[in-house]
Amino acid sequence: PMLLNDFLDRAVKLYGSKKAVINTDGREYTYSELNERVNQLSHGLQSLGVQKGDRVAYLAPNTLEMLEGFYGVFQTGAIMVPLNTRLTPEDYLFILNHSETKILVCDQELYHQIAPIREKLQTVESVLIHYADETCEDINYDQWLSRFSSNRFDRPEMDEQDVCSLLYTSGTTGNPKGVMLTHRNNYFHALSVQHHLRVSDKDTLLHILPMFHVNGWGSPFYYTANGATQVMLRKIVPETIMDLVQKHKVSVMHMAPTVLNGLLQYYDQKKPTFDHDVRIVIAGSAPAPAFVTKVEEEIGWEFIQVYGMTESSPLSLFSPIRPHLEDLTKEQKYRLKAKAGIQMIGCEVKVVNDLGDEVAWNGQEIGEVITRSNSVMKGYWKNEQATMETIQDGWLHTGDMGTVDEYGTIEIVDRKKDIIISGGENISSIEVEGVLYEHPSILEAAVVALPHEKWGETPHAFVVVKEGVALTEEEVIQFSRSKLAHFKAVTGVTFVDELPKTASGKIQKIHLRNQKWEESG
Ligand code: ATP
Ligand code: MG
Repeated sequence: PMLLNDFLDRAVKLYGSKKAVINTDGREYTYSELNERVNQLSHGLQSLGVQKGDRVAYLAPNTLEMLEGFYGVFQTGAIMVPLNTRLTPEDYLFILNHSETKILVCDQELYHQIAPIREKLQTVESVLIHYADETCEDINYDQWLSRFSSNRFDRPEMDEQDVCSLLYTSGTTGNPKGVMLTHRNNYFHALSVQHHLRVSDKDTLLHILPMFHVNGWGSPFYYTANGATQVMLRKIVPETIMDLVQKHKVSVMHMAPTVLNGLLQYYDQKKPTFDHDVRIVIAGSAPAPAFVTKVEEEIGWEFIQVYGMTESSPLSLFSPIRPHLEDLTKEQKYRLKAKAGIQMIGCEVKVVNDLGDEVAWNGQEIGEVITRSNSVMKGYWKNEQATMETIQDGWLHTGDMGTVDEYGTIEIVDRKKDIIISGGENISSIEVEGVLYEHPSILEAAVVALPHEKWGETPHAFVVVKEGVALTEEEVIQFSRSKLAHFKAVTGVTFVDELPKTASGKIQKIHLRNQKWEESG
């Protein structure tokens, strides 16, 4: 069977003495050493009564302990429930009770989010604390771990269709849903990404995407299997990222477009130099409008765009990479990479109209993106209704709208829920945002529908301006009118200090929309 511990087994066998992980506190371990800690963890969990199918939740930033948690939990047959670090105590209460979690593993820095709900956790039997300090009244993880044997752990009988993780969606469009992913889902996903990304033992990955989020969650598998070095990042700060890239000769990074945007701003100001090649920078999880050219031309890193969602482990689309692009002009290449990508090996992806027919490959006709593969989830945890609505005849309905060009490259036009319908015309909020990002004074922008008496809806922009510059509403409106068909241009602007984001850096337009709709009654 395809079981996720195979990946670590392979690394131990082939790359045992290679550096596996560099932690935020400077500790470094080889794959053999990592495996010993993983075994200790599995023995420890067993001593706490953890059995196959039990839920073990993690509330932690990207740390060594989070990474060893993956393989240590899977090895017992238990299910990992990674928790988004930016939620509220009420959210944690809901998820921990909903998932019927038995063991909670929590970073000391985040424990204050759990303390207020501690008494109300119905199923949690033990709490383990990473980086415990003197205030810790629970189990000190380090001390606890050291009590257990690092010898081989006797794994229970397991099937590749067993669920290995319960991942709650980002909550960009509403309440997060618990997605059940199986060993097979993640295994297959790792093989497919590996085919496109060609990770090797020469690679060093900087874990920027939070591992509790599906995009970060999926990546340790193929880096582990290939003996790459994984550098942990506790907190996303552009300066720290650039320093770590240089210090550890990082070759690959995956990140959300908002984080990439922050890096580019930093690059503009500080012009850091690197004495090695960053092989690839991957952005996904939200549209990456205007970044391709800048990343490739100015910094000289190869840019790859990917597309996916929690429900498909996550990726199903990938930018065409180097060899495919050699015959194209730069402009053609950048235009292609600005799109979500082509279907990955092992994934079927189609764009279909209301009747379920595939749209024409002309880059014009818009339909819903649907996908079918071995990476598509088993279903939503305790929510059969939502599962039935989302997976129909084996096809996962993404809720994203897109077009297909003559090469089969899919471009995401918008989420169904974010499309602005003005005077009967569909306006892609992403397209309008892309134009606003071209304005030299605009740092971030989000465009949402605002109710309009005459047109039904109209595009309204929320804008964060760069430090030290002044910008007026009229300037923004005129700028968008100069670059877009007039019905697509923004009709109003709200200037804000920051935009609401999910923990993985996605802009939560739902909050902006709600705010505006409430204001306008
Ligand atoms: P929720 O489902 O709780 O509202 P979410 O959809 O943001 O949150 P995820 O599963 O993390 O949760 O994100 C998947 C979504 O992210 C996709 O459905 C799509 O809308 C968006 N997305 C991912 N990659 C891209 C991309 N390259 N371009 C455009 N959108 C993307
Ligand atoms: Mg979603």
